[in-house]
Amino acid sequence: MDFKLTKEQEIIRQNMREFTRQYVDPIAVEIDENSRFPGEVIAKLGEQGYMGMPYDNAYGGGGTDYVTYAIAVEELSKSCAATGFTMSVHTGLACGPINYFGSEEQKQTYLKPMCKGEHLGAFALTEPSAGTDVNAALTVAVRDGGDYVLNGGKTFTSNGPVAETFVVFAWTDKSAGSKGMSAFIVPKGTPGLIIGEHIMKMGIRASQTSEVFFKDCRVPAKNLIGEEGQGLKIAMGSFDNGRIGIAAQAVGIAQAALDETISYSKQRIQFGKPISKNQAIQWWVADMYTEINAARFLYLNAAWLKDQGLPYSKEAAMAKVYAAETCMRAASKAVQAHGGYGYCKGIKAERLLRDAKITEIYEGTSEAQRMVIAGNLLR
Ligand SMILES: Cc1cc2nc3c(=O)[nH]c(=O)nc-3n(C[C@H](O)[C@H](O)[C@H](O)COP(=O)(O)OP(=O)(O)OC[C@H]3O[C@@H](n4cnc5c(N)ncnc54)[C@H](O)[C@@H]3O)c2cc1C
Repeated sequence: MDFKLTKEQEIIRQNMREFTRQYVDPIAVEIDENSRFPGEVIAKLGEQGYMGMPYDNAYGGGGTDYVTYAIAVEELSKSCAATGFTMSVHTGLACGPINYFGSEEQKQTYLKPMCKGEHLGAFALTEPSAGTDVNAALTVAVRDGGDYVLNGGKTFTSNGPVAETFVVFAWTDKSAGSKGMSAFIVPKGTPGLIIGEHIMKMGIRASQTSEVFFKDCRVPAKNLIGEEGQGLKIAMGSFDNGRIGIAAQAVGIAQAALDETISYSKQRIQFGKPISKNQAIQWWVADMYTEINAARFLYLNAAWLKDQGLPYSKEAAMAKVYAAETCMRAASKAVQAHGGYGYCKGIKAERLLRDAKITEIYEGTSEAQRMVIAGNLLR
């Protein structure tokens, strides 16, 4: 068994580290404070080939494996979790359905500009009535001649205010149950597609989130992804991919929390010595390091299984739930290590704790991940 990363994977980690040092670290505090979307950084990520890493060169992708892509998400998230998430939700949830289920024409028209970072993607599944319970969704798509007409509304659509390409889930036949939902590509500017205001959040504040409404929104039938009735299958498959990205994001935040804890505890003097000389702090550091490495192995394992063409749904859920909870513990300890200063704006640990919380919620809550894991074990 070989746990060593390849030379290419190490190079990508170094390159992303350099990218964040140059472009992300200097603005991370400001974009968080102002909930500002870092469009200039996303454009640079696109130029440097980071916005479609695991997809085919023929569609503008980087042609890397999923392990390499996840490592890049971890590194980016270590600097700014909101930017890491923007890349991850675009790549895993928006590009993924088109790449794995889309027609050649859809890949040329939509996936290509997405992979090149020219168009940002969004994934619109959640509705006010349908979060964990996606079957409670109300959005419908009715076939009308050569078109589908969408009506309904989505919430918590990441990238909503800045996306060009929306992957939207709607019922084409509610009576068919899990085989009644379908997935559609809805480009920005389609009449009847209405984007709501940016929703202000506790953390990942630079990531843009909004409601999205469909009022007699007409798309050509060729914008159906895959076949009618495949929507839930496409959504769940996308979550399996997306969860690897969120686990990597969580590990990035947790690693940053550990780095902050180590550097602060070595320089903060109390009782005439650095606080790192106290065994209590040393044990935190040891536990954080151990858990972060375990979480990293879990996401790398899930990504590796995917790269081998082996089942990885359970492993992606395990990686996500463990990494998210590790991330919360690490970020909380980082604030604690900073004492009162950790509770103040401008200290990275404060931002990390706010950013950490979302990893336990989106792309399926921690409870939903446990449902996936137990569902696999108990069937
Ligand atoms: C910042 C942000 C970005 C997001 N981005 C996107 C996006 O891009 N696209 C998208 O479609 N969605 C997105 N979401 C939605 C996200 O995936 C949902 O918020 C999440 O799935 C939970 O749904 P909910 O908020 O409706 O909570 P609910 O489903 O109402 O859950 C509330 C609580 O009940 C628990 N619960 C629910 N059912 C069960 C059960 N059967 N057993 C045990 N516990 C249960 C949950 O775990 C949770 O703790 C985003 C959300 C946020 C906050």
